[in-house]
Amino acid sequence: MTKVRQLPYGELAENGLNIRLAMEEATRCLLCDDAPCSHDCPAGTDPGRFIRAIRFRNFKGAARIIRENNILGATCAEICPQERLCEKACSRCGIDKPINIGRLQAFAMSMEKDMKFQVLEAGKPCGKKVACIGAGPSSLAVAAELAKKGVSVTILDENEKAGGVLRYGITPSRLSDDVIDQDIKAVTDLGVKIVLNKHVSKDDLCALMAEYDAVYVGVGQSASKMIPNMKGADLKGVDTALPFLKKARIANGKIGDLGNVVIIGGGDVAMDCASTARQCGAKSVTVSFVETWETMPASKKEVDYVVDLGVTIIPAFKPLEVIGDDKVSAVKLAAMEGNSSMTLDADTVIFAVGQKVSDDYKDIKADGKLFVGGDAALVRGATVVEAVKSGKEIAEAIAKFLQI
Ligand SMILES: Cc1cc2nc3c(=O)[nH]c(=O)nc-3n(C[C@H](O)[C@H](O)[C@H](O)COP(=O)(O)OP(=O)(O)OC[C@H]3O[C@@H](n4cnc5c(N)ncnc54)[C@H](O)[C@@H]3O)c2cc1C
Ligand code: SF4
Repeated sequence: MTKVRQLPYGELAENGLNIRLAMEEATRCLLCDDAPCSHDCPAGTDPGRFIRAIRFRNFKGAARIIRENNILGATCAEICPQERLCEKACSRCGIDKPINIGRLQAFAMSMEKDMKFQVLEAGKPCGKKVACIGAGPSSLAVAAELAKKGVSVTILDENEKAGGVLRYGITPSRLSDDVIDQDIKAVTDLGVKIVLNKHVSKDDLCALMAEYDAVYVGVGQSASKMIPNMKGADLKGVDTALPFLKKARIANGKIGDLGNVVIIGGGDVAMDCASTARQCGAKSVTVSFVETWETMPASKKEVDYVVDLGVTIIPAFKPLEVIGDDKVSAVKLAAMEGNSSMTLDADTVIFAVGQKVSDDYKDIKADGKLFVGGDAALVRGATVVEAVKSGKEIAEAIAKFLQI
């Protein structure tokens, strides 16, 4: 197993398992009865069962178990926080170390792709049709579950490509287009139609409600939050996380000279901005946040990753103002405790201080044939595996409503 650290934009770390290593890892599994790992997957991906299948060289069976339970099985294998979910619950933690569930899941999904396994089937048409707004993880899960029940599903998304945050937020060095495409193919293979470049305003909802038997709103949290009254926030060179990540993804990392980059925020999104800026060739990248090292929200894995890429971390400082005439030239930070402050040279400043539902959908509520889920139904965004869970639950509610 090798792991490449300093990556140009879009190049994936090599950390896959071959058949021999996968069998060795699966052999470590205790084949627990009522497996704790399976209990602790929000989407019910059922590692206990798919690892058993791998152990008996039933790779197609493993792929089927994953896909039946979690239509985004390939994506979740790459970016799920397994260390605080299935792997944390693994019985082997008490003996030596947990089974590497994420890598085994990625192995089963790569076997599905390489061997062209077809593991799911669309249901017999039931005569009902449903529209999903947004082609992110939650809509993809709603669509797949309903298609398995024979519903005709159309997804509408404003972007050029499907995937939502998977495609335009998470950096390609953590999640490649190939993996996203594999999961989306699993959805379209069930007969789900995806209409792209289609913005659906709140006013368009009425027409959709008239045309479809039910409508699902899975628009995520696509607007950026900003620190209120931040001086200099409108200077050139100041950006927020999602637009910055999207620009980098669309331009394949070629977004011009970023110079010295300062990122404000201590979560995983800030870390994605930091690694992206680094991979786009920034002269220097600094991340600052109000929390301490111990209380910062980003996962340790992501922080270690950006530190390895040469990113400077400044905990426990808050931004006072962005300095510049027409264009940003510096950021002034103040310590959370005591009176010290510092001014950092900056050509680009990125605020990664949270996302929210766009104004159009911020007050949307489920009502009759209208269903709302995924990040759009939350105050704070969650994770992909939780969006899949939400999608599965909504699909059940829609099926009940449609009486199928
Ligand atoms: C930068 C970043 C990194 C993340 N990293 C991880 C991670 O490592 N692991 C993890 O598990 N989770 C991660 N997450 C969280 C995860 O991506 C989200 O919880 C998940 O994508 C939510 O899915 P969703 O379907 O609700 O919404 P989204 O993924 O946001 O998809 C919503 C879709 O709806 C579209 N849309 C919005 N409005 C309209 C409209 N009016 N008309 C048409 N289309 C519209 C959007 O363009 C988008 O394509 C990350 C999130 C971000 C922002
Ligand atoms: S908890 Fe660990 S050892 Fe038990 S079935 Fe799951 S992966 Fe195997």
